[in-house]
Amino acid sequence: MSLEQELRAEFGEAVLEGTPGEYLTDFSRLPGSADAVVLPSTAEGATAVLAWCYERDVPVTPRGGGTGVAGGASPAGGVVLALDRLDRVRSFEPELWRIHVEAGVTTGRLQELVRGSGLMFAPDPGAPEQSQIGGNVATNAGGPHAFKYGVVGDWVTGLEAAIPPGELVSVGGAIRKDVAGYDLKRLLVGSEGTLGIITAVWLKLLPAPEVVLPVAIFHSGRREGCAALVNVISSGIVPAALEVLDAETLACGSGSFPGGMPEDARFLLLAEADGSRDEAERVAAELVEVAGAGAVAIQAPRDREGITALWRWRSGLAFAAIARRGGVVAEDIVVPVERVEEAMEETIAIGLRHDLVALAFGHAGDGNLHSSFLVDPQNVDELVRAEAAVEDLFELAVRLGGSVSGEHGLGLLKRGQLARQWGPRALELHGEIKRLFDPKNLLNPGKKLAGPLAPGEQPPLATRS
Ligand SMILES: Cc1cc2nc3c(=O)[nH]c(=O)nc-3n(C[C@H](O)[C@H](O)[C@H](O)COP(=O)(O)OP(=O)(O)OC[C@H]3O[C@@H](n4cnc5c(N)ncnc54)[C@H](O)[C@@H]3O)c2cc1C
Repeated sequence: MSLEQELRAEFGEAVLEGTPGEYLTDFSRLPGSADAVVLPSTAEGATAVLAWCYERDVPVTPRGGGTGVAGGASPAGGVVLALDRLDRVRSFEPELWRIHVEAGVTTGRLQELVRGSGLMFAPDPGAPEQSQIGGNVATNAGGPHAFKYGVVGDWVTGLEAAIPPGELVSVGGAIRKDVAGYDLKRLLVGSEGTLGIITAVWLKLLPAPEVVLPVAIFHSGRREGCAALVNVISSGIVPAALEVLDAETLACGSGSFPGGMPEDARFLLLAEADGSRDEAERVAAELVEVAGAGAVAIQAPRDREGITALWRWRSGLAFAAIARRGGVVAEDIVVPVERVEEAMEETIAIGLRHDLVALAFGHAGDGNLHSSFLVDPQNVDELVRAEAAVEDLFELAVRLGGSVSGEHGLGLLKRGQLARQWGPRALELHGEIKRLFDPKNLLNPGKKLAGPLAPGEQPPLATRS
């Protein structure tokens, strides 16, 4: 009997017929393989599947919406445990600003639901129609509004997870503070499916701001734009989002910029003010004053269509960059905010060194850049050069006092890269925590690996798009 048949005998229709391709990769497009895909409908069901697999030494890859870009949900044999059917809202108490949801609820559905009660789930990672809250927690996802509101993990007050060898564990809950034990909840946040399968989370919510007012400030170059960025931070203004886009990124999106891209624009500082109308207007005016000196153009739409169009354009930029050559090898380095200019400049220099077009944009208020190299995904030589460029990028991030990943995690593509920035004892502790949760190394094996790769071992080539 095949593994799929054995699982079906035990778990019935939770086991899919065959292994549909969409469950075998993520946005990295790294092709994986699996012996079976299981979609349990309850937390207890997910725990039972984990217990069954653990007893038989079968690897398990937890899977959310598959929007990750680090190959974290790309399986290497065994069982894909997809959370799609754990999609219930267990409780929603708008008057208490909290919600308890199962892991498979999509980010977009959660956002829409709470918005209907005048609330917001503050983090806003991209691809919300497809990504799931469990995946957002498992990657501790960020997004543009992390600058003011923090990352997903900052909003998790409790978490339920299936832990090897097959037990359902709950930590925290509908409480806003809890220092009674070690913060196990935080360990699972960002663990990329390597410590447990998140089945449900309790989240804090906030009253939604009355208005959001974007301000797009175009500068003539990187130096001017980054000076404006640092000015905003040191002035004490607190925008909800503070994004930057360099000249090459603007070139990718110039054709679709609402109302046309201003001439001479070579850098964009895209900020957003939010709050009550008075507060948002005040912050927007301060942004213009502090970051607008010497700008080549400033656009601050006030109508709903204009605001939506501007953010839609920003969300589509990653795809506009892909469209240039068919693929992009992008990484999500993070550096101290005052080193953003240097990181952007060196990204371009790295591209030139490896004969690749490079661009840099991202959540610069948090020092988090999507440094990207445009590639033809069919051109192996280009992919090899892009991997070499990415190595230089990681070296750069660490040299500037930053990290190899601000948002997307290590997954499969960045396995071993943590060894660049942590000392031996810290790496050892990382490994010991993994062994404590998963002594047989069956939960998403090979992902989020901290220590250096074995000699000759290479992460696979991938476009991350
Ligand atoms: C267009 C686009 C824009 C994006 N923008 C952002 C952004 O602004 N900020 C950002 O941080 N990321 C961004 N991402 C990356 C991605 O959306 C996030 O990492 C997202 O949180 C992944 O969620 P998912 O449900 O798709 O997870 P998946 O891709 O399915 O999985 C990601 C990892 O989490 C693990 N996992 C998933 N669900 C669970 C679970 N229930 N329990 C345990 N482990 C689990 C998987 O094993 C894998 O290692 C973007 C991606 C795309 C394609």
